[in-house]
Amino acid sequence: MVSNIINPEFAEALRCKAMEIRDFCLDMVYPRTCLSCDALIESKDSAPKLDLGLCEDCRQQLNSIEPPFCRICGEPFSGQIDQTFLCPNCDGRRMAFDYAIAAYKAEGPLRELIHQFKYNRNLALRGILAHAITLAFQDSRLQSEDLSHWLLVPVPLHWSREMHRGFNQSWELCKQLTKQTNIPAAPLLRRSRRTPRQVRLSRNQRLENMRGVFAPSYRAWLSQIILRRRAWPNVLLIDDVLTTGATAHECARVLRTHFGVQKVVVITAARA
Ligand SMILES: [Zn+2]
Ligand SMILES: [Zn+2]
Repeated sequence: MVSNIINPEFAEALRCKAMEIRDFCLDMVYPRTCLSCDALIESKDSAPKLDLGLCEDCRQQLNSIEPPFCRICGEPFSGQIDQTFLCPNCDGRRMAFDYAIAAYKAEGPLRELIHQFKYNRNLALRGILAHAITLAFQDSRLQSEDLSHWLLVPVPLHWSREMHRGFNQSWELCKQLTKQTNIPAAPLLRRSRRTPRQVRLSRNQRLENMRGVFAPSYRAWLSQIILRRRAWPNVLLIDDVLTTGATAHECARVLRTHFGVQKVVVITAARA
């Protein structure tokens, strides 16, 4: 047998060389460009899966969210704190979700990717953003959970907005995450009315604005009634960006009251 004759180290070196030649040929035919700034990406610079399709410069500008951060809303804090802490926004307020985690700060190239994905309808970016979300799965609190028994649930858009955009970005991210993690996804919620843009509103105003906006989706409601489904698993609520947590709070409230969900953890690609 040839494999028994060839030295394994030599075989590995040969395989690496073949990969290098393949990448070189692919780069000649389809040069890779940075998804944020269009600069050319050289194969030797890229670390597959970790580069998010960005050039070295843009990668340097990604700000991942590291502890310390608020143990409820995930707001990062730049000082030295050894214990877990609550930010002034969460202190004394009861949010319906257990906690929220995000992979990166919503600034620089990542903000650009999200903008391209949502508003320029660049669906090709969903795999990369879903991969960014899986980085948030490394949170120590989730590491002790058996996530195969959880459910990925998207934050819904109002049907008119979804029709206008052509897709719901959160549902697209959920489907990608299912491919990457094998955790099942289900759209349990619907948005029953449109809400005005919340950019200029305070957190209290946003909470007020979102009250009663979400309801069980018709599919989940039917499954509850017809199949008499009573037991619903814990939920990873998925969205592209978390701002004040008002939307996530209202979604989590409906998940708990209508579906009896015990734990709701919010996971987003970015934190504003
Ligand atoms: Zn770039
Ligand atoms: Zn907080």
